[in-house]
Amino acid sequence: MGISNFPMITSLRTTLKEHGLKDTQPRRFVLQALEKLKKPASPYDIQKWVDAKGGSINAVTVYRIIETFMRIGLVHRHPCDGHFSLCSMPHKKGHHGFLHCTSCGKTQEFHDEQLCKAEERVARTLKFRSSTHVSEILGTCAACAA
Ligand SMILES: [Zn+2]
Ligand SMILES: [Zn+2]
Repeated sequence: MGISNFPMITSLRTTLKEHGLKDTQPRRFVLQALEKLKKPASPYDIQKWVDAKGGSINAVTVYRIIETFMRIGLVHRHPCDGHFSLCSMPHKKGHHGFLHCTSCGKTQEFHDEQLCKAEERVARTLKFRSSTHVSEILGTCAACAA
């Protein structure tokens, strides 16, 4: 198991290329917004961020780009509020999930291959074919609990 805070994207161009995506301005905007906002963002937050930078992007484009990024595991959706964040450990195999502090709103990503296997087992037992898993643990972070 491992935990991580928000990632630093060293090069947007490299990230896009690694995933076989064309390097386009709207994709850069969305990646940059998710990186700079430092917290899970709604598509509207992303749009606002781009506007504030003097750019322009419409909501449909934001959604479409987020869907592409989710498909390749670059972005995750947080089930509790529907917000999105960059995967902070895109090279880690296994299940990715989030700890979500309901007191301060801080989120932290974790990955756990055992959890992934356990969930696959549940799905298989119930003859369910899984395509993706999303885990979220709601509660209080160490700082808030202290
Ligand atoms: Zn992840
Ligand atoms: Zn907290």
